[in-house]
Amino acid sequence: MRENRPLDPAPEPLVPAQDLVNTWFGRLAGDAEEGLATPVDLARWCRAHGVDVADDGVTDADLDLALVVREGVRAALAPHNDSVQPQDAQALARLRDVAGELTLAVSLAAAQPALVPVGSGVRAMLARVLAGPVVAGDQTWRRLKVCRDCRCRTAFYDYSRNGSGVWCSMAACGAANKQKAFVERRRDRTIAARAARGA
Ligand SMILES: [Zn+2]
Repeated sequence: MRENRPLDPAPEPLVPAQDLVNTWFGRLAGDAEEGLATPVDLARWCRAHGVDVADDGVTDADLDLALVVREGVRAALAPHNDSVQPQDAQALARLRDVAGELTLAVSLAAAQPALVPVGSGVRAMLARVLAGPVVAGDQTWRRLKVCRDCRCRTAFYDYSRNGSGVWCSMAACGAANKQKAFVERRRDRTIAARAARGA
């Protein structure tokens, strides 16, 4: 079962990117935790974000494209956390390769200039995911992070005052990693003490 822990949503332009990344929860990864396992899953996800896509309107190629975008965004978020976070260069390269298929146009029709997806369906939804960081601006985008725990990698928005958050939640990954670090330090001290005694 997916762990239902409340995650504060990112500011509005980044919600599609955050939600797409979090269709897979690494912490509890297993096939059952893949939120985009079928084209129908993707159709539902698009509808949940206000883009009308019929269940039979999504192809396997659309699903592949969505997964490339998802993992590319996850990789792009890695440096926002800290230097400890590994960045998946291949996922970033794959995103770069497909980004040209996701077209956006500048619209001056409304009161505010806007980036609007060209086209419809899944591609329009994925174009919105990529428009989010541009609309949000660099300072906001930098606060969307992936959890430092490499088994988790949930996307969370860092609302901390100084922008130093590294865990998706202190209660879950933060506490678990502190406990792990404590056990490792104690083990290292025990090994060192034994070595000193010549045991
Ligand atoms: Zn986490």
